[in-house]
Amino acid sequence: MKQDQIVSLNVGGKYYMTSVSTLTTYPDSMIGSMFSGRFPKVRDNQGNYVIDRDGKIFRYILNFLRTAQLCLPERFAEWDLLEAEADFYQIAQLSEAILTAKESRGLYCSNVTFELEQRKHWGGLTEWYGYTDSNIIRSMPKLSRDDDNRLICNLCKVDEESLRAGICKCKDPFKRFFQEISNAGFRYCSSVAENLRKSEEIVVWTFCRGPLYSQ
Ligand SMILES: [Zn+2]
Repeated sequence: MKQDQIVSLNVGGKYYMTSVSTLTTYPDSMIGSMFSGRFPKVRDNQGNYVIDRDGKIFRYILNFLRTAQLCLPERFAEWDLLEAEADFYQIAQLSEAILTAKESRGLYCSNVTFELEQRKHWGGLTEWYGYTDSNIIRSMPKLSRDDDNRLICNLCKVDEESLRAGICKCKDPFKRFFQEISNAGFRYCSSVAENLRKSEEIVVWTFCRGPLYSQ
């Protein structure tokens, strides 16, 4: 195939347009070999080359081939999928870029902890706080945090009142937060409860995530 030839791809039902020179940026990769003619290519009935892989995540792979930069959204969370696709296409440079991106987002730091704090105030108001690296909060799709470390549950932003940080109106807030924290690769370590004043009770659950821990 000629280097400047335009290629249309059907990756798992998503369509992309690119060129042979982009696809063969890394000639030793699987996708590079595929489009330098070494592999048989399947076409769909519209003539697009078919790759039977995840079509959505291919966007990041194609952009990496175009620019040699891995550009991911701030709240990107599909790391396992992206790593699997980098392995499938055998783009070593991409696998390396993924590791660097994970590190820079605090996903591989050793001894990372997440402290989830529940404050029961006088009058029945319960607030939730999260203490951890801000990169970790940024990597969690359903949680945010305000400047006072109060957690914002992105699931129950339904009315004025629940927009207030630190309050989750989900059925079982602890279960919700526990799940989000577990999804981010943490495991539960310990908890401690204390009564500050007669009316205020604080419970802190500590979660940790180490370099050897894998989901
Ligand atoms: Zn909630």
